[in-house]
Amino acid sequence: QAKELGGDRFRFFTPSLKDGMLRSILMERALRHALDHDELFLCYQPQVSSKDLAIVGAEALLRWRNADGHLVPPSDFVPLAEDTGLIVPIGDWVIRTACRQAVEWEREGRPPLKIAVNVSPRQLVQDGFVDKVAGILKETGMASGRLIIEITEGVALQNTKETTDTLLRLKALGLHISMDDFGTGYSSLGYLRTFQVDSLKIAQSFVGEMAENEGHAGIVKAIMAMARSLNLSVVVEGVETEEQVKLLQAIGDCTIQGYYFYKPLLPEDFSALRDKVKQ
Ligand code: C2E
Ligand code: MG
Ligand code: MG
Ligand code: MG
Repeated sequence: QAKELGGDRFRFFTPSLKDGMLRSILMERALRHALDHDELFLCYQPQVSSKDLAIVGAEALLRWRNADGHLVPPSDFVPLAEDTGLIVPIGDWVIRTACRQAVEWEREGRPPLKIAVNVSPRQLVQDGFVDKVAGILKETGMASGRLIIEITEGVALQNTKETTDTLLRLKALGLHISMDDFGTGYSSLGYLRTFQVDSLKIAQSFVGEMAENEGHAGIVKAIMAMARSLNLSVVVEGVETEEQVKLLQAIGDCTIQGYYFYKPLLPEDFSALRDKVKQ
C-alpha cells in the first residue's frame, strides 16, 4: 500500500506521525486564515516597579481566537508559525499593532509606557527587518525609546554576524533589547555584551520556586547582582505570590510582571485599569 501512495518514502510514516503532520498542515492553514481574518489580537500584561508598584510598562502577548471560538495559547501555535515562516508576517502585525496601541493610549492622555514585544530569531534574520521596524515607528508615531524587543537565548545560539548587526542597528534606532527567559538557554554570557542587551527578564522557573527553594533565591540574587554590575535593568516575570514580591523587594530594584499583580489584559481593560489607578 505504501507503494501506491507514491513509493518507498511513505513506508516510514506511522499513523501517529501522519496525524501529527496532518495536524500541522491544518494548523498552518488555519493560522494563515487567522492572520487574514483578524482572529489574532494582543493582550497587554502590566509591569510594575518594585519600589512603588506603579505601572511602568507592558508586554504585548499574542492571542488567537480561532474560527470555532477557541482561544489557542501561543505555546500551541508560535512554534508552528516559526517553523513555517508565518511568524514573519505575524510578527510584523504584532509590532505594528503594539505601536499603534501605545500611541493611541498616549493620544488619549495617558502617561507613556514602555511596550515590550516578543521577536523570534526567524524575524530578526529576515531581509530588511530594521527598515521595516523603522517604517512602523514612522507610520505609527511611536517613540523608538519606548519599544522593547524581547529576544530569547535561542538568538544567541545562532550568533551570526547578521543577528548582531540587526540588533545593533535596532539599538541605533533607539530601541531597547531585552533577554527573555534569561538563564534557561544554553548560551554563554558573552552575547550580553555582543548584542548590547539593555535588560534581562529572569525566567519564571527561578521565580516560581524562589520562596520554597533557597537555591532558586540564590540564582535570582546572583542574576540581579550581575545585572547591576553590568548596568542592565531586570524584569522578573511569573510573580504569583506576595512572598515572592517581598523577597524581590529585599534583593533590590526591579520591574515585576506576574499574575500576583495583573494578568494579560485586553486593551480596553488595560485602559480602564490605568484610569482607575490614575497612572
Ligand atoms: P514569554 O515571552 O516569556 O511571556 C510570558 C508568559 O508568561 C506569558 O504567557 C504570560 O501570560 C505568562 N505569565 C505572566 N505572568 C505569569 C504568572 O504570574 N504565572 C504564570 N504561570 N504565567 C505568567 P503566554 O501569553 O501564554 O505566552 C507564552 C509565550 O509565547 C511567550 O513567553 C512567548 O515566548 C510566546 N509569545 C507570546 N506572544 C508572542 C509574540 O507576539 N511573538 C512571539 N514570537 N512569541 C510570542
Ligand atoms: Mg516575553
Ligand atoms: Mg519570558
Ligand atoms: Mg518565552
